Amino acid sequence: MVEAPVVVVGAGLGGVRLAENLRNGGYDGPITLLGAEQHPPYDRPPLSKTVLTGDDERVDLKPAEFFRDSDIDLRTGTRVVAVDPTSHTVSVECDGTVEPLPYGTLVLATGLAARRFPGSEGVAGVHVIRTVEDALALRAEATSASRAVVIGAGFIGCEVTASLHSMDISVTLVEPTPAPLSGPLGPRIGEMVTRLHVEAGVDLRVGVGVDEIVTEDGRAAGVVLSDGSRVDADLIVVGIGGYPELEYLEGSGIELADRAAGGGVACDGVGRTGVADVYALGDCANWHDVDGHGHRVEHWTHTVDQAAMVAAHLLGHAIPHQTVPYFWSDQYGLKFQMLGTPRPDDEVHLVDDDGRKFLAYYSREGLLTGVVGAGRVGKLMKARQFLLTPTPISTLLGG
Ligand SMILES: Cc1cc2nc3c(=O)[nH]c(=O)nc-3n(C[C@H](O)[C@H](O)[C@H](O)COP(=O)(O)OP(=O)(O)OC[C@H]3O[C@@H](n4cnc5c(N)ncnc54)[C@H](O)[C@@H]3O)c2cc1C
Repeated sequence: MVEAPVVVVGAGLGGVRLAENLRNGGYDGPITLLGAEQHPPYDRPPLSKTVLTGDDERVDLKPAEFFRDSDIDLRTGTRVVAVDPTSHTVSVECDGTVEPLPYGTLVLATGLAARRFPGSEGVAGVHVIRTVEDALALRAEATSASRAVVIGAGFIGCEVTASLHSMDISVTLVEPTPAPLSGPLGPRIGEMVTRLHVEAGVDLRVGVGVDEIVTEDGRAAGVVLSDGSRVDADLIVVGIGGYPELEYLEGSGIELADRAAGGGVACDGVGRTGVADVYALGDCANWHDVDGHGHRVEHWTHTVDQAAMVAAHLLGHAIPHQTVPYFWSDQYGLKFQMLGTPRPDDEVHLVDDDGRKFLAYYSREGLLTGVVGAGRVGKLMKARQFLLTPTPISTLLGG
């Protein structure tokens, strides 16, 4: 049950949703929402899309009056630097001073930090994209850039490539695996994504890594690839993922999951850590799912689901079932969507392909595991019902 006061560390999507769910669920005790960033809580998916292209400045998660009207004490520019479960306090740093803040229930929702290319921190012309400052700094340089290198063709690297391409920048996308997104989605879908980038005119280099970022006069001037070739660029974007930044938990006794299992704060299936009254959710959390394995997932909808589950658990309400896992990505005017838990080694059934848009079912041991599509929103969403219960793939293939 919820012990007052509730302190939420991290004023991003998960922290805001948790606070909102507690209020909507009837909790009327104090809630303090602590956010290291200076801004009121904002949404991250637009950063690599409309914020980068200049169609949005920042997309706030809530109107300013929401926090006042909901009696949620939002403290921006406030970083938690330590947690002491014995005294039930967190150490809070704001404007250079550190003070203790007591909690009854503590919820950790501190997201990720962007992984940097070794040695590139502070080098002019090299960017990551995790915060609104990152996105605005990249946009500011992109407006006068003509050649960019994007390192890493995961979802964010692919999106940034498409956004920069739409800004008339010639982009080289570098990916060490055989195809963009082939890591999470397998080689077949990797081919479809390759097709999109190549047809758009992106210089796609797969099967090679970046050995070095070349600088001239203290500014990035290009990269040297692992095959020895050099690509010149006035802008470099590093899209090699993120990691949960959890130094503030050192010495707290709160267990972290193994790196091999994705790292993050180790939790059970409702977000409970092994330490009394401490929970974690969102990108920083590694939850044990029904399959008994720990997973850390970096998807918007997953975070929203976990915030609902933790709130329900704290309020003693029935725990809502996790919805079917869902992820989207916008590239070249197409909506990519993924439902379920497709794995790269699953069998892939390409059921629709017009040369650009496509839909594929994934199956494992004869059962549907996921659906992936581009530009096929209606068809993909229709297949969602089949992921709610174990469904033989033959049901969808008509066999
Ligand atoms: C560029 C980009 C594009 C994305 N696009 C998509 C998409 O298209 N589809 C999709 O499904 N998902 C997308 N995602 C992922 C999605 O945004 C995340 O899954 C979601 O934001 C996770 O929410 P969170 O609350 O766990 O973490 P976050 O939103 O990262 O919030 C965590 C907050 O905690 C703060 N914090 C960290 N440490 C401390 C501390 N010690 N003290 C106080 N505050 C702290 C951070 O500053 C941050 O504001 C994207 C992410 C990025 C970066």
